Amino acid sequence: MTVAASSLGDSENPWHNAQSQFDTAAELLSLEPSLRAVLREVRREFTVRFPVQMDDGGVRMFEGYRVQHNTTRGPAKGGIRFHPECSLEEVKALAMWMTWKCALANLPFGGAKGGVIVDPAELSHRELERLTRRFASEITVLIGPESDIPAPDVNTSAEIMAWIMDTLSMEAGHSVPAVVTGKPLDIGGSEGRPRATGRGVTIVALEACRHLGRDPATTTVAIQGFGNVGSVSALLMHEAGFRVCAVSDVTGGIHAPQGLDVHALLEHRRAGGTLASFGRVEEVSNQALLELPVDVLVPAALESQITAGNAARIRARLIVEGANGPTTTDADHILERRGVVVVPDILANAGGVTVSYFEWVQDLQSFFWEEPEINHRLEKVMCRGFAQMVESAQAYGVSWRMGAYLVAVKRVADATSVRGIYP
Ligand code: NAD
Repeated sequence: MTVAASSLGDSENPWHNAQSQFDTAAELLSLEPSLRAVLREVRREFTVRFPVQMDDGGVRMFEGYRVQHNTTRGPAKGGIRFHPECSLEEVKALAMWMTWKCALANLPFGGAKGGVIVDPAELSHRELERLTRRFASEITVLIGPESDIPAPDVNTSAEIMAWIMDTLSMEAGHSVPAVVTGKPLDIGGSEGRPRATGRGVTIVALEACRHLGRDPATTTVAIQGFGNVGSVSALLMHEAGFRVCAVSDVTGGIHAPQGLDVHALLEHRRAGGTLASFGRVEEVSNQALLELPVDVLVPAALESQITAGNAARIRARLIVEGANGPTTTDADHILERRGVVVVPDILANAGGVTVSYFEWVQDLQSFFWEEPEINHRLEKVMCRGFAQMVESAQAYGVSWRMGAYLVAVKRVADATSVRGIYP
């Protein structure tokens, strides 16, 4: 189980972790105090409370958020999650991480995030649609192709993006495809977007192995989370030659030291099977999965999974952060001391927002590209980000995470300085 950010101790509170990562980068860059003050807070935080008509005729109130951390380099960009333990502090952290992620990939976007406190599994399909449309309408004052562009995140999908796009379009009186990304292809979605985040994870995992002199064919992998990011990472890493030995979802995990047939596992799940009912595997808990004797660990579920409580027991030598904020700052220090290399979230999962950027560009131009071109451009962005992160980490003698932060924070700080303070 995860816990609402507001009830967590300081070290596991994602917002405190996000601010503390920024503070370290600001110190290393010797950022002037006024610039630090601007960048360590979110620009806008918007809370909405709204009613939804339920199928039984009753009405339920929901609470949701849209937060824009920074818009200096372009429109705010970031996903919307539906989760029972979503909180404003969590969404603020996720918005700040989006700013750094977009800056590191050098996309002309700022950072945002949204969320609704809801367990979508408890809603019918019609209730989910009504909730989505009402939330979209509540945040209309913030979102738009030039101002703030949502996308899918935990428990949200292409279909949910279609409802948001339709709601905003109906309110505008004409189609506005560029208002969200991660949409279905039929309404201006992009080829390659559904797999983009997992593809990016795979690209940087391969880059990291190349850099560390490790052969993927003899490299074992455990992946926490088997949703969009986790399942695509499992598939593409398997296809790239890695031995994927363990995966998990919210119900628990499975482990097969000889490696999982990921194609067969996905087929089994498509047919309605659970992870645990896939044959010839041993069951492991989500916590145990993180501590398995594998070479690479890919956390691809939620934040604050690798903490001071388990970091000393992580046996992987390389962590590729598919999820946002899976490692707390305290855990980072322990991992660094133990020589565990981390490809940080702001690079590792940037494939999604990168192809979202391609989708937005295609929508604005009403001109669409084919998948090989998208994948090729994605690879270039990921490899460029990886090289810049490593170069910066070496220049400053810091971890890859801090190397990535230094590139990203400097870009946003420079843009802020050059724009000056309004009025
Ligand atoms: P998703 O809803 O598709 O999948 C989430 C997965 O995590 C599911 O398999 C779920 O069962 C599992 N899970 C949930 N709670 C868990 C827990 N406590 N322990 C273990 N597993 C748990 O979501 P997603 O889009 O794959 O997002 C996963 C992570 O990746 C999030 O941190 C998200 O912010 C990040 N991310 C997503 C994208 C994207 O394009 N979807 C892009 C960048 C980053």
